[in-house]
Amino acid sequence: MSRNSELFDRAAKTIPGGVNSPVRAFRSVGGTPRFIQRAKGPYTWDAEGTRYIDYVGSWGPAILGHAHPEVVRAVQQAAENGLSFGAPTEAEIEIAEAIVARMPSMEQVRLVSSGTEATMSAIRLARGYTNRTRIIKFEGCYHGHADSLLVKAGSGLLTFGNPTSSGVPAEFIQHTLVLDYNDLGAVESAFQKYPDEIACVIIEPIAGNMNLVKPRPGFLEGLRELCTRYGAVLIFDEVMTGFRAGPQGVQGLTGITPDLTTLAKVIGGGMPVGAFGGRADIMAHIAPLGSVYQAGTLSGNPVAVAAGLTTLRLLGEPGFYENLTERTSQLAVGLQERARAAGLAFSADSVGGMFGIYFRDTVPTSLAEVSESDVELFRKFFHGMLERGVHFAPSAFEAGFVSGAHEATHIEETLSIAEEVFATLK
Ligand code: PLP
Repeated sequence: MSRNSELFDRAAKTIPGGVNSPVRAFRSVGGTPRFIQRAKGPYTWDAEGTRYIDYVGSWGPAILGHAHPEVVRAVQQAAENGLSFGAPTEAEIEIAEAIVARMPSMEQVRLVSSGTEATMSAIRLARGYTNRTRIIKFEGCYHGHADSLLVKAGSGLLTFGNPTSSGVPAEFIQHTLVLDYNDLGAVESAFQKYPDEIACVIIEPIAGNMNLVKPRPGFLEGLRELCTRYGAVLIFDEVMTGFRAGPQGVQGLTGITPDLTTLAKVIGGGMPVGAFGGRADIMAHIAPLGSVYQAGTLSGNPVAVAAGLTTLRLLGEPGFYENLTERTSQLAVGLQERARAAGLAFSADSVGGMFGIYFRDTVPTSLAEVSESDVELFRKFFHGMLERGVHFAPSAFEAGFVSGAHEATHIEETLSIAEEVFATLK
């Protein structure tokens, strides 16, 4: 029995399903997850010493590549000064200033420890601010695992063919309206039906939890206009796209200004940091200033903040995003060319350092179209790549991530391995 299998069996005895987050379990692709022992730059090594070119990137945070020496040093230094104080620190001000300076719509920001906390808190704030209860989300968008948001959410839930979660009382989601991504008419109808009841619209402005799906031209602009017209809060969930799709997230790419934004992943540089923020007049409703309660023992943890701050600083180096975007596009375009040359129905797309690959002819614009991809071919492709030392996300419904440590040679190596694998898929 392989060492990975041994560990998986052992893990399953004390950890449900052997993993601490469902998609890690390889349920949709089958086989044994790789137990990672260490990682450096673009590579991970598993418990058997096998090396992989990694496109999971810890599901987004590892934008500089794994274990960047400056980030590791910052973490070590912070740890020596104490792990957690439960009192304010100067580093928290610095990271808040760094986020506010970079994200166009954010005037103030509150730190939390995960993306789930960020979206949950932003929605509570939107409801407290507007004094309304209904929220709009879009099918295939995942905003973490808070009760009211676990309705037709993407990735892990899609992979399991389970659009919602048991354990969520129907009453908890009765205020959540779920509409189709890219269907502005449906949003307009919802506002016409409930003109004074919708507290907020929450959206992944480029969706990365139903594979990668971009907004159609005019969709985000339309959401902005409707939210303004009806007095609802527009929340961009940039947990995945923040500092990943571009240096200022999707709001920087599109020029559309949400009222609130949620962040996590990259801003923690691999450590647990999340954040929500936006208009100062809305943020003034949070405790201790206002009546919307939100708190966290480890919020703004000094070790995690040190990793995040150093990451944000390094992302500011000239040319970082140009290179990242170029490499990622080289991978997406290269995969599409090779798959099509092998006679496969395949398309690919990318933005900044994230990409989507689809076993279908055209790039999808909705969950329904993503679901038409050939999942069985993806499964074979995934294992073919893994056996040859390239680790993609283990689900046809996940986006992939490239880091600043992926150089042209890593992309070329990946493409020549993919060519070999595509030839076996016919
Ligand atoms: N929002 C988006 C867009 C995400 O991609 C995720 C996680 O993948 C979350 C929220 C939840 O973040 P976390 O897993 O840190 O709770």
